[in-house]
Amino acid sequence: MPDCLFCRIIAGEIPAAKLFEDEECVAIRDVNPMAPTHALVLPREHIESASALDERHEALAGHLVRVGARLARENGIAESGYRLVLNTNADAGQTVFHLHLHLLGGRPMEWPPG
Ligand code: AMP
Ligand code: ZN
Repeated sequence: MPDCLFCRIIAGEIPAAKLFEDEECVAIRDVNPMAPTHALVLPREHIESASALDERHEALAGHLVRVGARLARENGIAESGYRLVLNTNADAGQTVFHLHLHLLGGRPMEWPPG
């Protein structure tokens, strides 16, 4: 996917602050953080959104959540609390159509979200 921003970050063509990587995913710092901790967990596979996940992706989807939880621990926000968010399509504000799990924490957050 040559025109995909996150594919290009994963390929190393665009720089990003990498927090973690393994065979399945890469985690980066969000360039425009909405909370003191704001990371994005990106599957290496180009998947457009949560809506494009199928049964082949079940283990991968679980892995992304576990990596998010691990990053929360490493960033010291596991106990205070955090959100793992998949913005999906227009009403949710998805702007990059390569699946990414947001990890947000380090401040109290409101519910319902805006
Ligand atoms: P979403 O609105 O859920 O599609 O989230 C896309 C996220 O990607 C936003 O939080 C952006 O701040 C973030 N973002 C966009 N460009 C970059 C970049 N080059 N490096 C890191 N994060 C980015
Ligand atoms: Zn992509």
